[in-house]
Amino acid sequence: MFEAARVYHAGRVRADAAVLVERGKVRAVYTTRAATRRARGPSVRKIDLGDCLLAPAFVNAHAHLELSGLEGRVARGRSFADWIRALIAARGARTPEQMVQDARVGAERLLATGTTLVGDIDSTGAITTAARGLPLVVRRFREALDAGDGTRVRAVMKRLAAPRVRRARFHEGLSPHAPYTISARLWHELGSFARARRAHVAIHLAETRAEIDWLSAGRGPLARILKHAPMESGLTSIARAGLLGPRTLLVHANHVTREERAQIAASGAAVVHCPGTHRFFARESFAAREWLAAGVPLALGTDSLASNEDLDMGRELALFAASQADLAPEEAFACATRHGAAALGCPGITGEIAPGSSADFAVHDVGGARGAAALATLVHGRSRLVATFVRGVQVGPQTPL
Ligand SMILES: [Zn+2]
Repeated sequence: MFEAARVYHAGRVRADAAVLVERGKVRAVYTTRAATRRARGPSVRKIDLGDCLLAPAFVNAHAHLELSGLEGRVARGRSFADWIRALIAARGARTPEQMVQDARVGAERLLATGTTLVGDIDSTGAITTAARGLPLVVRRFREALDAGDGTRVRAVMKRLAAPRVRRARFHEGLSPHAPYTISARLWHELGSFARARRAHVAIHLAETRAEIDWLSAGRGPLARILKHAPMESGLTSIARAGLLGPRTLLVHANHVTREERAQIAASGAAVVHCPGTHRFFARESFAAREWLAAGVPLALGTDSLASNEDLDMGRELALFAASQADLAPEEAFACATRHGAAALGCPGITGEIAPGSSADFAVHDVGGARGAAALATLVHGRSRLVATFVRGVQVGPQTPL
C-alpha cells in the first residue's frame, strides 16, 4: 500500500490518501484516514512516501527517441525547410548502432524524469532493440513516407509487412509521416494497411504555414524541395485514406481552420502539442483552450532532441502551463498524463490513479504545498521528482525508497 501526504486522484489532490496495489495494478484508492486505517493489515506492505505528492506518471505522447543523439546538432535555420535539410544531414551522420544507443539513452531519460509511457516514431527499428529490458511502455509508430515519389511505395509497404513485435510493454502502431511527404498512392496503401489491422496511427499535421501553402497551392519554401503538390489540405488527404478516427493521433496541428478542428473533434482523434519544439521554433501561441473546448484529447509530447533541449515531461508541462495562462493546473496536468494515455490507446491503464489502472506513478516533492497548491507546484515545474514506479516497482531515479 502506497501512502503519501498527498495523492492525486479523480482530478484533485487528496490529503492523507493511500493506494492499494496488487500485482502491479491499483486495487483501491482510499481518500480518508479511517478508510486507510481499515485497509492496513498484517499482510499489507506499506510504502510510505512521506510528505510528497503521489501522482500518475507522465505520458509522452510524441517522441522520436532514435534522434536523441542530435541534441544541439540541428540548427533552426531561417525556415522549416532549412531545419529539415539540417535534420536529414545530421541524421545521416549517425550509424544504425549509434541510433540504437541514442534511443536507449532517450528511453532511460524518460524513466528518470517520471515518464512511463511513450508514443515513439520509429523509422529505423532502433527502438525495438533499445527498449528491450526497460520497464518503459512503448507504443512505437512505424514511420512511412515516400517524399511524393510513388515508385517507393512498394518498398515502403514491404518494410511495414515485417512481423510485428510481440513483447510485454510494446505496442505497435503506424506513422504516415505527414501529408507533405506522402503520395496519393501511398496514402491509399497505408489506409488499407491500417484499417485491416485496426492500427493506431500518428501523423504530423499542419505543423507550419509552409506546409499548408504547399499542400493547398503548391507554393512557398517547400516548393523548392518537394514536387507534385496534392492541391488539397492535409486533413482531406488523411480523411480520404480512412485514417481520421478515434485511433488517430495528430501531431502539432498548429494551423487548422475552425471547420477542421470541428472535423477532428467529431472523428474522435487526439492531438499532441510539443511545447519545447514550439518554443524552439518561436511559434505563435498554441490553441490549447480551443482544442479542449472542442472535446479533443489534447496530449503533450517532447518531440525529438533535434528540436528540443530535453525529454523531460515535467519541463514540457511547465512550458505548457507558462504559455497557457488560462488553463487550470488540473487541465494542464491531464494533457501530460490522462489525455496522453487515451491518445496512445491506453485509456484507464496509465495516466491516472484509479482502481484497475496500472500502478505507474511519479512521486514529487512539492515543498510542503497542500491541496490545489501542490498540483500547481508540480505543473509549474517547481517540484522535484523523487521516484518513478512502473506496475508498482520503482524504476527511477536511482535511490530506492
Ligand atoms: Zn515529430
